[in-house]
Amino acid sequence: MAGRKQPQTTAAATGAITSSQPQVAAGDANDIARMVEDLDAMLSRLRLGAIRDQLDGLLEEAAQRNWNLREALAWLCAAEVASKEQRRLAMAMTIAHFPCVRTLEGFEFEAQPSIDPGKIRDLATCRWVANGDNVVLLGPPGVGKTHLEVALGREAVTRGYSVQFTTAMELLGSLVKGQQQGTLEVRLAQYAKPRLLIIDELGYLPLEPEAGHLFFQLISRRYEQGSVLISSNRPVEEWDEVFGDQVVAAAILDRLLHHSHVVTTRGDSYRLREKRRSGLFRPQAGGSSSAGSGGSSPPPPAELS
Ligand code: ADP
Ligand code: MG
Repeated sequence: MAGRKQPQTTAAATGAITSSQPQVAAGDANDIARMVEDLDAMLSRLRLGAIRDQLDGLLEEAAQRNWNLREALAWLCAAEVASKEQRRLAMAMTIAHFPCVRTLEGFEFEAQPSIDPGKIRDLATCRWVANGDNVVLLGPPGVGKTHLEVALGREAVTRGYSVQFTTAMELLGSLVKGQQQGTLEVRLAQYAKPRLLIIDELGYLPLEPEAGHLFFQLISRRYEQGSVLISSNRPVEEWDEVFGDQVVAAAILDRLLHHSHVVTTRGDSYRLREKRRSGLFRPQAGGSSSAGSGGSSPPPPAELS
């Protein structure tokens, strides 16, 4: 019969696995012509979109380079893997909700001598995320805390960790609302989920009275499960004022600091550098001092909030 031959698998026909090689009929020129005709559809079905979309160019290049079939197949697979990785990264960056694009390459360490570049590069390896440790970034406004949070967050995304960026106000506003509406559990679960939760700007604005308890619940839930990267303009000694409750603040810090890296930035606002140079602002007394781990001292008065 001259009818269309269907590729057959022996296993499908007999219900038993008899061969590791699928039996695809390619007996005559018509068979292969039909397969070529179906190639786009087959690549779509296999979710090989990059190979499908770039096939002509990829095959042309493979031919020009005189690659054999195995080499050409490796080249096609590499194109698909690269495309999938690019899409995964783009999707993960979107999900992370970074407020801006900032990178470690774009961070001028000379402008912020209170930060040890070696320590930041070490954090950029994301071993602390793998271990479920926390990072606490302390310092006055404009010294690059958000910049470093976004840059470290992007490194974590690149290494395949799920990341969510939020501000303390947004996070606590959501938890307070959840408590009022009976959806606290859902919201706590949502913030407990990412492997790295970045909480920016704790201490800038006054918190609602119940915020400390809610924050404690979240930190307890994440404790030794997932990492928190948190930044604040207030030294940890003042967090009882931030949360309006000494006991709650102590309980939060106990868990947050247990396995943690503390980076204390001092010095002048990067934002106001140009203005200072033009004489609009006077340099602050004390200037920059050495980076620290574990301790902090009250930051100089804020130039900008
Ligand atoms: P903070 O969060 O501590 O208030 P930001 O990270 O928002 O400060 O920094 C303010 C601006 O200055 C941002 O645009 C940031 O990219 C930039 N910036 C701060 N410090 C540096 C630095 N050392 N090198 C390059 N850019 C910096
Ligand atoms: Mg900031």
